[in-house]
Amino acid sequence: MASSPILTTSLPQKQLTTSSSSAAGFRLPPPEKLAVLLDKSESVDLVKQIHAAILRRNLFLHPYHPVLNLKLHRAYASHGKIHHSLSLIHQTIDPDLFLFSAAINTASTNGLRDQAFLLYFQLLSSETVPNEFTFSSILKSCSTQSVKAVHTHVLKFGLGLDPYVATGLVDVYARGGGDVVSAQKVFDRMPERSIVSSTAMITCYAKQGNVEAARALFERVPETERDIVSWNVMIDGYAQHGFPCEALMLFRELLAKGRPKPDEITVVATLSACSQIGALESGRWIHVFIKRSRIRVNVKVCTALIDMYSKCGSLEEAVSVFNDAPRKDVVAWNAMIAGYAVHGYSQDALRLFDEMQGTAGLQPTDITFVATLQACAHAGLVEEGVRMFESMGQEYGIKPKIEHYGCLVSLLGRAGRLKQAYEIIKNMEMEADSVIWSSLLGSCKLRGDFVLGKEITEYLIRRNITNSGTYVLLSNMYASVSDYEGVAKVRSLMKEKTIVKEPGVSAIEVDDRVHEFRAGDRNHLQSKEIYTMVRKMSERIKSCGYVPDTDAVLQDLEETEKEESLEVHSERLAIAYGLISTKPGSPLRIFKNLRVCSDCHTVTKLISKITGRKIVMRDRNRFHHFVDGSCSCGDFW
Ligand SMILES: [Zn+2]
Ligand SMILES: [Zn+2]
Repeated sequence: MASSPILTTSLPQKQLTTSSSSAAGFRLPPPEKLAVLLDKSESVDLVKQIHAAILRRNLFLHPYHPVLNLKLHRAYASHGKIHHSLSLIHQTIDPDLFLFSAAINTASTNGLRDQAFLLYFQLLSSETVPNEFTFSSILKSCSTQSVKAVHTHVLKFGLGLDPYVATGLVDVYARGGGDVVSAQKVFDRMPERSIVSSTAMITCYAKQGNVEAARALFERVPETERDIVSWNVMIDGYAQHGFPCEALMLFRELLAKGRPKPDEITVVATLSACSQIGALESGRWIHVFIKRSRIRVNVKVCTALIDMYSKCGSLEEAVSVFNDAPRKDVVAWNAMIAGYAVHGYSQDALRLFDEMQGTAGLQPTDITFVATLQACAHAGLVEEGVRMFESMGQEYGIKPKIEHYGCLVSLLGRAGRLKQAYEIIKNMEMEADSVIWSSLLGSCKLRGDFVLGKEITEYLIRRNITNSGTYVLLSNMYASVSDYEGVAKVRSLMKEKTIVKEPGVSAIEVDDRVHEFRAGDRNHLQSKEIYTMVRKMSERIKSCGYVPDTDAVLQDLEETEKEESLEVHSERLAIAYGLISTKPGSPLRIFKNLRVCSDCHTVTKLISKITGRKIVMRDRNRFHHFVDGSCSCGDFW
């Protein structure tokens, strides 16, 4: 091409307005035809050819040129040539509103926020009046801060009630669960609400954790209008805010209705709900559903399956999904490494850590290190763990976060290097949280270092960095040295500060239903049979020489009473229910929200031996696999 745009635009206008002038026997199609060709262009080369022809034929001042320019912009953008498409506006004299709005939209949807705002300001200073398309485009680039200014412009130009603009505003205010009040104000004033605006508002409530308001609005949307996006927001909202059972129920409701069809996002959210309550049967059922309904098993679905199987206690199935996955990103590898770690297969976790960097050629992330450090901590691999922690910063340039320090502290604590762990906490760059302190206190109790344990606890109480766990640990430490005055002191302190001990809850899934038990619970329909089984088990394990570990009780009670309250700890009720309601020999999977106490740990080992059942127990910290009288954690957790 001999002529540049600058040269062609300087040619006399007379010649430019002819659209089909012939040169060397070639007739250029009229501009209307070129527009159609641009819309249908299948390759960027064709778009470039047409662009060249427009330049060559001096169509710049043709009355149809603005349309052509807009089509060119769209064609470049649709072929992913964002830079080409955006540079058109700079080559255009007096770009019109449509080109401006289209360019702002292209910049916004491609994450070029600064460029979108530059174009928006250029438009405002050119005295072009923005329309609803301009605003819905620039809103996509707004942050929760910049939206206020754009909102003012919206009102100034009288577009506050436009459904697209209002939806865009609700969407930005809702982003990151941000400004629910402003979002609601805009939403309430909308004369007509589309499913898109309602979904934006439901998202806003859900992200805030206000699942009740989200559900109420979801129910107000007519059933025929609910699309899969709104269902997904609702299911995910439940799953992410501590309502996994509701998430699962809503998913079943969606299937019962038959439409809309669940997609990848629906199953990922529902699988996450299964992981939280250890609903393995439901998780397996969703896996079958995914295969049957031909939902695309992308890397996110794969990772959700790996995570679900490993968190629901079936490491074998997690491994099989991982091995069959055609494509795995670092998140999938992290999920598998974490799976091995939490189940106590530390060597496998570390092997995968090497493979990930070797054969897969992926760089570990901070999350990878949480998993590998946990693996080291669970297996007592002190030197490896410390080396791993140091290599994070030195070799990989990853700054350790509180979670990494947490793993290091638990690793050192487990090895009995309590003073070193204490020093690390004191010298950390960030403030230690209650999790990290509880971990060190747990180690103090386990190692019988009552002096350091007491020093730490008193320091925590003085500085008001405590949770119910801290008090329970302190009380347990007093109890372990039979200092019942100390125990009483802690109890009155807890009363004074109105600290309620988090109740232990254990769950077991039987026949697709999750049954939950609290300590001493008598609410279950089969309560009588459950307690009969509890007593039967107690007698059998006592005849094997078991003596209850009464240190594990918080209260200062008479020996016999202590024994009874241990006997009805929530996990024992769940195990007893499992024993009476499942086939002999089948494995039991128990999920507990707190750490398993030492006495229940001993008892579960014995039950696994006398019943010949494999018992998989997930507590707050890790998985325990009880088989034939011993546990995979090696009695250290
Ligand atoms: Zn217990
Ligand atoms: Zn164990």
